[in-house]
Amino acid sequence: MTNPYIPMKAEIVSIKTETRDIKTFRLKPLGGKLKFEAGQFVEVSVFGVGEAPISISSDPDVDDYFELSVRRVGSVTGALFKLSEGAIIGVRGPYGRGWPLKESEGMDVLIVGGGCGAAPLRPAILKLLRSRDRYGRIELLYGARTPSDVMYMEEFEAIAEGSGCRVLLTVDTIAPDNRWRYSVGVVTSLFDKISVNPFRSVALVCGPEIMMMYAVRDLLRLGFKPENIYLSMERRMRCGLGFCGHCQIGRKYVCLDGPVFSYSEIAPMPDKIV
Ligand SMILES: Cc1cc2nc3c(=O)[nH]c(=O)nc-3n(C[C@H](O)[C@H](O)[C@H](O)COP(=O)(O)OP(=O)(O)OC[C@H]3O[C@@H](n4cnc5c(N)ncnc54)[C@H](O)[C@@H]3O)c2cc1C
Repeated sequence: MTNPYIPMKAEIVSIKTETRDIKTFRLKPLGGKLKFEAGQFVEVSVFGVGEAPISISSDPDVDDYFELSVRRVGSVTGALFKLSEGAIIGVRGPYGRGWPLKESEGMDVLIVGGGCGAAPLRPAILKLLRSRDRYGRIELLYGARTPSDVMYMEEFEAIAEGSGCRVLLTVDTIAPDNRWRYSVGVVTSLFDKISVNPFRSVALVCGPEIMMMYAVRDLLRLGFKPENIYLSMERRMRCGLGFCGHCQIGRKYVCLDGPVFSYSEIAPMPDKIV
């Protein structure tokens, strides 16, 4: 039996700076392909430093490479930021349960992202757009702190240009001279403008926990059903395999049962978010 803790090697083939503290690393798996579903994550190792769980942020239908959009916060992410193209890192996975895209066919889809929460949503957006005719209306709401904190800006603008997905962008604050052309305010302030039908929609939500808390509250008020609101949860995680218990919430393991949960699963949890 192969040891599940041994990572596969992957080469960094390109690095794109998204914001002042987020970079997207394009990786080529060495010795195999990485097949994954939208919303799944991998355990990334920088050799000699450690491991961290990171969502796969690229198109699930492309398996020659995969991408990780990483915010620099500590030891592993800091070490990753020091690497250049050609460097080799380790990857275990993919792990976890992703977004319910198959189950959402025939429905409207509202995607709500905040900050680095756009990373696990991006594969879902790309997959939904690839099968555009299987869904009703699709709307993407994305918020960041300032214009320079917006991830995937060119890609979101290209999507807004005619892919059949309405895109609404907002930032919390702008400098007086900024040329920001979109909304100002928290992402939930865009809920007034949505045109999806809450009674036959699913919502896919990922962002800071405080943002998800307010988003759920407002989505419920708008008429979204708890079982149709999906959130990608972040908890401290080690093994990714359901062994160590670090990410356990009640009876659920975020690494195995999540990271995507419906709100109806989250509501009874002991450290529920709303
Ligand atoms: C399923 C999942 C998917 C994720 N996807 C992404 C992603 O796509 N992109 C991305 O940038 N990050 C993602 N994260 C978060 C990422 O795993 C952490 O930021 C990472 O573990 C930091 O590792 P580090 O060694 O650089 O930081 P550390 O040196 O371990 O910590 C730096 C600081 O962050 C705090 N911290 C670390 N991890 C967490 C946590 N989980 N919750 C609260 N505080 C924490 C520490 O207390 C410390 O203050 C994801 C997390 C999970 C569970």
